[in-house]
Amino acid sequence: MYVCQRDIVTLLSSTLSLLDCDNCFNKATIALRTNYILTIMLTRPTSLVKEINGCTLCRDRFAATATRNRPRPVPWFQPGTRILIAGQAPGRRVHETGIPFNDRSGDRLRDWMGINSATFYDQGLVSILPTAFCWPGYDAKGSDLPPPPICWETWHDRALAEIGEVKLRLVVGGYAIKRHLGTSKPLTQVVAGWRDLAPATFPLPHPSWRNTAWLKRNPWFETDLLPDLRRAVARALA
Ligand code: SF4
Repeated sequence: MYVCQRDIVTLLSSTLSLLDCDNCFNKATIALRTNYILTIMLTRPTSLVKEINGCTLCRDRFAATATRNRPRPVPWFQPGTRILIAGQAPGRRVHETGIPFNDRSGDRLRDWMGINSATFYDQGLVSILPTAFCWPGYDAKGSDLPPPPICWETWHDRALAEIGEVKLRLVVGGYAIKRHLGTSKPLTQVVAGWRDLAPATFPLPHPSWRNTAWLKRNPWFETDLLPDLRRAVARALA
């Protein structure tokens, strides 16, 4: 993840401005930002990460969306990481902050994994590789647009080669399951068959709060799959 000096100064300034506030949400934000700032100061981006950060292949595609967003890639990986989170694409909040899973989906995913933000954002331990590195924007109805296939075709073989072998892979959401596992089976069927892929790989639904109803319909996910997942995460990090 490459962030310029101006970005760091802006983050530091806005983080310091939160220190006077007693609000719990702001305290959580301070902790997350502090960890993020430390991470980006200690992480040297590889040449591939720098290359991805400069990518504007989808500029015209994004300009034609209802949100008219610009490309802002959020690569978050480094060679030798232990856990790979293969996800979908950044959402709006991630696009605005440049921090992957810096939202309620991330809170839920960290809870599923049984780890805190400090571990989650340590790229030596956890790398995050979405199907597309940029937020695809919204359509005219305000729905999320799909990750642009060109991103996978352009970058993913190189990114996966650079990351190398990992101890544990989490494949998160329908798009990532289709790409990484090469299956078009319904998501529930793939996730329900997690034992066929564990302990090296866990297929997971997207941790979005929009999937709360799915979690209620499939209680085995919390009672059976999550304990297995947390054990696998602890083993990979040990
Ligand atoms: S989504 Fe991928 S291919 Fe498109 S601009 Fe972003 S980094 Fe480039």
